[in-house]
Amino acid sequence: MSIESLIIKHAELADLKRELKAKGSEEIGLCSNRNRTEINGFPGIFFNDGPSCVDSVFEGFKDAMNEASEFGDQVFFEDAWSDSVAEGEVCQHCQNVRELKRRRVKASSDLGQIRGAITRVGRRLSREKSE
Ligand SMILES: [Zn+2]
Repeated sequence: MSIESLIIKHAELADLKRELKAKGSEEIGLCSNRNRTEINGFPGIFFNDGPSCVDSVFEGFKDAMNEASEFGDQVFFEDAWSDSVAEGEVCQHCQNVRELKRRRVKASSDLGQIRGAITRVGRRLSREKSE
């Protein structure tokens, strides 16, 4: 890859990462469980500060992990997540959050590779310059 295409790819991935992060924050704010939380047991009063589905799954997972560790077992978040999704406990927004996060992690790792490649080109150019 030419240095120009590396720089272009770097900019594209950096933007993609930023975009995915923004979309993720937007989606988590739309979580239907979070927005359904009642205040002092009064239904109909909403605030959007309750736990999201992601938070709830994580809480359940932590409990399961503590229990499992007593028996020397292992539990995996991925399993807890799929179970909760299958049980219909995770709203579409939170499912989107997880998908966006997956794509962001991928973009991050691609970005790291591009940075590595740019660094290698930089080193080569630096050597050539000092020769
Ligand atoms: Zn949700």
